[in-house]
Amino acid sequence: MRYLSTRDNTVKFRAARAIAQGLSREGGLFVPEAFPAISEEDIIRFTGMTYAELAVFVMKLYLDDYSEIEMTEYASQAYGKPGFDHPDVAPVRLIDDRTAILELWHGPTCAFKDMALQMLPHLLSAALDKTEEAKDVCILVATSGDTGKAALDGFRDVKRTKIMVFYPEDGVSDIQRLQMVTQEGGNVGVSAVTGNFDDAQSGVKAIFSDETLRAELDKKGYFLSSANSINWGRLLPQIVYYISAYCNIVKAGGIIPGEPINFCVPTGNFGNILAGYYAKKMGLPIGRLICASNSNDVLTEFIETGVYNKNRAFVTTISPSMDILISSNLERLLFDLSGNDDRLIAGYMKALADEGKYEVSQAIKAGLRENIDCGKCSDTKTKETIKEVFDTYRYLIDTHTAVAFNVLSDYRLRTGDTTKTIVVSTASPFKFCESVLSALGEQSGFGGLELIDRLEEVSGAAGPAPLKALRGKEVRFKGCVKNDGMRSAVESFLF
Ligand SMILES: *Cc1c(COP(=O)(O)O)cnc(C)c1O
Repeated sequence: MRYLSTRDNTVKFRAARAIAQGLSREGGLFVPEAFPAISEEDIIRFTGMTYAELAVFVMKLYLDDYSEIEMTEYASQAYGKPGFDHPDVAPVRLIDDRTAILELWHGPTCAFKDMALQMLPHLLSAALDKTEEAKDVCILVATSGDTGKAALDGFRDVKRTKIMVFYPEDGVSDIQRLQMVTQEGGNVGVSAVTGNFDDAQSGVKAIFSDETLRAELDKKGYFLSSANSINWGRLLPQIVYYISAYCNIVKAGGIIPGEPINFCVPTGNFGNILAGYYAKKMGLPIGRLICASNSNDVLTEFIETGVYNKNRAFVTTISPSMDILISSNLERLLFDLSGNDDRLIAGYMKALADEGKYEVSQAIKAGLRENIDCGKCSDTKTKETIKEVFDTYRYLIDTHTAVAFNVLSDYRLRTGDTTKTIVVSTASPFKFCESVLSALGEQSGFGGLELIDRLEEVSGAAGPAPLKALRGKEVRFKGCVKNDGMRSAVESFLF
């Protein structure tokens, strides 16, 4: 299997090279040249596999330069104990006869990013050996909250890797910040950045395209790579849980094999929902993929009109991991819908960089309509949804999952679609205690970790052990830099 760049499809790399490098030199994203097919018989066979076994099977289809033995070892390290606290790894919970919830937050950092970031470091570390790379890798991450901690945890003390995480000063919850600034490990660095997620992300992108820094790092034996969801090694593990979720509903008798189901996905950088699109391309019976946005509804507008326009006010919401104006992974979808037209995509991305907007072709608009539905949800409605779901089902959801839940209700009213639907749940409600408590009508005066105790009392649900263990941990990283200070932060971390 070879990987093309979305902006130059004469680039043809093996998986290990694409994973080691992260991003193509001219700025494009790596995509597989073909999508392996899975059949109905495969799906029936998958129902007898553990999550780790399924992960090996699915990922091997794309990673033919990794051995079965390697993949088996990585999957058992990534998805075994003690990291994940549930035997199904990504359990599905049926809450009524046509709605289920896919819980993707049973990993060590309590957010769905663990699904991929417990796997990526193994793939990357092996990729360095496979590509005979002499230099060590320095991972740079811009995070809107959850990625940073999940990447730090995944890469902690992995050989031949260092990791530096930048998070926006205004835009992560107390608990998210605490998770990051207390990170242990000898190869990790963390810094706040003034501003919002896009400031942090554009800073990281500028560092990646800084040729003088690249040369300096080269001399000192490092090269830069990314753990953001632009890395193929991060996206690929996410395809697995769409398939496992489908199989779990088959096993529970909720659907017969071959029956289509919808997924409703709280979306930010478009990585999660794109993995669902790829699963559908492989043959998984998915009907509609519903893309849920918060008030930063640039994607909703795009899917409805075909015009992507990031020239708008950035809104800080109570679902901060979705506070994004540039959804990087959308580029991969557009590449696919255009029939791998690298020139066209390079043109859109240039327009986005120069003017902040572009409009896609009629063919792409038609492809969007055929595959993706969308909707948005305000903070007020997000809170109402948390309360409604709790009152109706005694089931607690976080703010991101609530956005998806609300968008699904609207979608059903609007379309009358009665297809069974899985709401993708992306974070433990205990990561966003303050908003969840206020949604339940609790105006507490608590802060930090006391919020976890309070939410346990109010909801009767137990908070996840990794969050409760934050209590009493030493704060290791106190720095905050401006956008233009990020480069020197990287230099002083490495040298
Ligand atoms: C990252 C994240 C999202 C958005 O996922 P994308 O793959 O970036 O679209 C949604 N919810 C939570 C809790 C997240 O951490």
